[in-house]
Amino acid sequence: METTLIFLKPDAVQRGLIGSIVGRFEAKGLTFVGMKLMNVPKDLAEKHYAEHQGKPFYDGLIAFVTSSPVFVMAIRGVNAVAVCRTLIGATNGQKADPGTIRGDFGMSGGYNMIHGSDSLESAERELALWFDDGELATIDKTLDQWVYDPS
Ligand code: GDP
Ligand code: MG
Repeated sequence: METTLIFLKPDAVQRGLIGSIVGRFEAKGLTFVGMKLMNVPKDLAEKHYAEHQGKPFYDGLIAFVTSSPVFVMAIRGVNAVAVCRTLIGATNGQKADPGTIRGDFGMSGGYNMIHGSDSLESAERELALWFDDGELATIDKTLDQWVYDPS
């Protein structure tokens, strides 16, 4: 099992897409172990997007994610990091495949509605930034026996 850090950016929250997007992860069979709506402090946004510091879109990105609340989730499942990235789709909504969240709901490269950790290492770093120790739920889902192959 992996846990990945996903958040719906201010455009998705403002556009009323929380339910539609969260429902996709839920229907996929993934498990939510953390969920919260929050305003993003600037220092958190800067730590989260540290790898992009100095890029032309960086200042706009920080201004965007701190401009209005985001909806943050910790999502658990087998291979959850890669599975969630697949559900999310390519960075630019105009290029993202139909069927992906960005491909179905967006038209922008910056206002692309959702963040998902890009590796297990990133997921661990980002979960520690966005959730406090002990904040994630422990949940035993008996339904998982109908989601995953027996192994
Ligand atoms: P992601 O992992 O698919 O979210 O993409 P990246 O890690 O490359 O970039 C982080 C975020 O920065 C993206 O989700 C966009 O919101 C933003 N971003 C990336 N590239 C561009 C760009 O070329 N222009 C603009 N305006 N924003 C960008
Ligand atoms: Mg990224």
